[in-house]
Amino acid sequence: MQALSEAAIRRSLVNCSRSEAAAMTLPRDIDEFDWTAADVLGWRDPKAELRGYLVHEQGGDLVGLALRAADTKMSSRRSAMCLLCHTVQSADAISLFTARRVGEAGRNGNTVGTYVCADLRCAGRVQAVPPSAQHLDEELQALAVEEQAEGLRQRLAAFTADVLRH
Ligand SMILES: [Zn+2]
Repeated sequence: MQALSEAAIRRSLVNCSRSEAAAMTLPRDIDEFDWTAADVLGWRDPKAELRGYLVHEQGGDLVGLALRAADTKMSSRRSAMCLLCHTVQSADAISLFTARRVGEAGRNGNTVGTYVCADLRCAGRVQAVPPSAQHLDEELQALAVEEQAEGLRQRLAAFTADVLRH
């Protein structure tokens, strides 16, 4: 994706009020973010513990989703899968996030929920060669990485469509 300005990121948020968008805090390490490699900028708000954001391009438009993490953590003794990047981690590193729907549905308290990496850094995880491809040659590893990235794009697009549906 293209490097985004703070103003563009704030403007991209589709499912929160203007005051909530104004209160959004960018990730502290945004200067180190690899824009060319990633399809999604995801982070937890450093100043508001339960808030998080996913910003990505969809059909040429920039779409930012404001999310709220559940305030309970799952057990570290179990494992769980992120439903966006499909990474399996210990369950305390996966969180239930809800996104308010846009428009009247959202004003009526209607939300969409899904389980996502608690740090929302799915884009970095799909850039790693999966264990199932580690014994393969470089070309096939690159293909496996591309498939992971495509899976993330598709699942995030489906989640976004749910948030945008009236
Ligand atoms: Zn993930």
